[in-house]
Amino acid sequence: MKIICIGRNYTEHIEELSNERPASPVVFLKPDSAILPKKMPFFIPSFSEDIHYEVEVLIKINKVGKHIDAKFAHKYYDEIGLGIDFTARDVQKQCKEKGLPWEKAKAFDGSAVIGTFVPKETLDLSQIDFKLLKNDAIVQEGNTKNMLWNFDALIAYVSQYFTLKKGDVIFTGTPAGVGRVVENDVLIGVLQDVESFKVKVK
Ligand code: ZN
Repeated sequence: MKIICIGRNYTEHIEELSNERPASPVVFLKPDSAILPKKMPFFIPSFSEDIHYEVEVLIKINKVGKHIDAKFAHKYYDEIGLGIDFTARDVQKQCKEKGLPWEKAKAFDGSAVIGTFVPKETLDLSQIDFKLLKNDAIVQEGNTKNMLWNFDALIAYVSQYFTLKKGDVIFTGTPAGVGRVVENDVLIGVLQDVESFKVKVK
């Protein structure tokens, strides 16, 4: 399976990193080795002094498809989840400055937290509330109504480039409030008032 990630999909997060509002979705990939195994702590990698959490709503793809029209995109997923796109912000900054790819900052081992998936019928996809708690304090709050590109638009867009396969996961971008983690932090993701994941930082 592969993980397809969307950057800059929430206006307030674009502003907090002083990024330009993109004309089309920003896309990058994580390999399956980036998935943090369930119940494992996240270990801060030695190559970064500035690891950030980014909480994001996830789409799990249920069948193979390419060049998917937005109006049929809803047929390609049944389940929605929540996760973290861990980012080595210092490494990403260096990559951006040099115009280099982001993989070292985004696709390292453990950088993809994938929480429990729920059937999409249990949610109103156009307005899903989600949040991230760090040590019991809310640090990020989002709602999918504020996405620049909704789920179906994202599937249509990325499937022009990548054949989607059953089991692939799309990270749909983070809202404002990203920040650094330090050892012993505990991160809890909540999707529409239900806990989706809990990760200890080591
Ligand atoms: Zn992200």
